[in-house]
Amino acid sequence: MTTPTPLPNPETRAGQEEMKRMGIVPWPIADDLTRPFWDAANRHELVIQRCTACGEFRHTPRADCLFCKSTDVEWVKLSGKGTVFTYIVDHRNEVPGFDGHYVFAFINPVEAPRTSVRLTGNILECDPDDVYIGMPVEVMYKELKPGVTLPEFRPAPEAKLRSKGQTP
Ligand SMILES: [Zn+2]
Repeated sequence: MTTPTPLPNPETRAGQEEMKRMGIVPWPIADDLTRPFWDAANRHELVIQRCTACGEFRHTPRADCLFCKSTDVEWVKLSGKGTVFTYIVDHRNEVPGFDGHYVFAFINPVEAPRTSVRLTGNILECDPDDVYIGMPVEVMYKELKPGVTLPEFRPAPEAKLRSKGQTP
């Protein structure tokens, strides 16, 4: 009888390196509350919840409204355009499946600029030094594996990129 090999511990650097070596990458798992969001991402659409009682948007998905507590909800398709609310550049790169440094950001969608809505994602297709608070961005879609697509963001055409000599 053999003892099964223990899985790497993702909370240690050694475990993270082992997971990278094994090709393990994180991906989202939909549940009943979040499935409409992930199903839309697979169709290359960005949707968030809106309360049908008071009209307020909310994200991340939740069962009741932050403002009026109603559970009446609809899923609304967004344009995918927004601005960077805040961001970090991760240089430690501890998450398996991520190589090099990358930008993780909170995005305010143009349709729902209130604080109750913050989309999250990486800012891709630009130098991390290009990213700034207030930067216009647009959604893009990254397929992690068949049936699992992640909404990400890239600079909108009107963004001012330092790498191109522009001043934000
Ligand atoms: Zn409401």
